[in-house]
Amino acid sequence: MINYRNTSIVWLLVTLVFILSGLNFNLLYGYGFLTLIYIVLLIIGSIKINWNFYFKSRSHGRRQVSEIALTFDDGPDESKTIKILDILKKHNIEAAFFSVGNKIEKNISVFNQIVEAGHIIGNHSYSHSFWFDFYSPARMVREINRTDQLIQKYSGKKSLLFRPPYGVTNPFLSKALKKTGHISVSWSLRSFDTTKKKDDMMRHLKRRLKDGDIILFHDTSKVTAEVLEDFINFIKKKGKKIVGLDKLLKISAYDS
Ligand SMILES: [Zn+2]
Repeated sequence: MINYRNTSIVWLLVTLVFILSGLNFNLLYGYGFLTLIYIVLLIIGSIKINWNFYFKSRSHGRRQVSEIALTFDDGPDESKTIKILDILKKHNIEAAFFSVGNKIEKNISVFNQIVEAGHIIGNHSYSHSFWFDFYSPARMVREINRTDQLIQKYSGKKSLLFRPPYGVTNPFLSKALKKTGHISVSWSLRSFDTTKKKDDMMRHLKRRLKDGDIILFHDTSKVTAEVLEDFINFIKKKGKKIVGLDKLLKISAYDS
């Protein structure tokens, strides 16, 4: 299995052989090449969350069961989240919102509406900073705990689910999550609602949808609410059921 631990062990052994060879110049190119491969694996493992390179993230439910879960990241947003909540309510759907701590503080009444509607709340860091992945494990823990405290303050529940900002993983985040005890949740189907146009997005979603999928949306994108109802109707027409993330993954979303 290609993961951080295994590839690091192999690279260390290669390094050891190179050192024991007396830093043989003839082996230098080979050693350099293997080191380059190691670095490339570290980078791809960091970007591709579903490689589970640094730690395991849950990306989908059982593929044999016609169930789908909807997730919304980066909110709450003062206007766009409300539109999404209205559509979910109309169709009686339970979704998961991976909320950002500083957005909760800015939009408390919206956050309360998510909670009151009975949706699952996950932790998506406090700052969602571009530099989050360069933070020390201790700083990551502080961010995660700060958002957890906000979630607990307004929902009364201790969230167990965490989604890494930008879907980027690394050894620091691995350490941080071991400390906080969160389950990392990724996705199996990206909506590309932050980059694609409405029609392209729908085409992509309809073509790729599979049983057990966790769909990634953003409740900060305008286009999300515009396609959501059509997409929900499409899922229903296909005979698939939209369930809560906890039910899809057979896990508890909160610490009891
Ligand atoms: Zn995000």
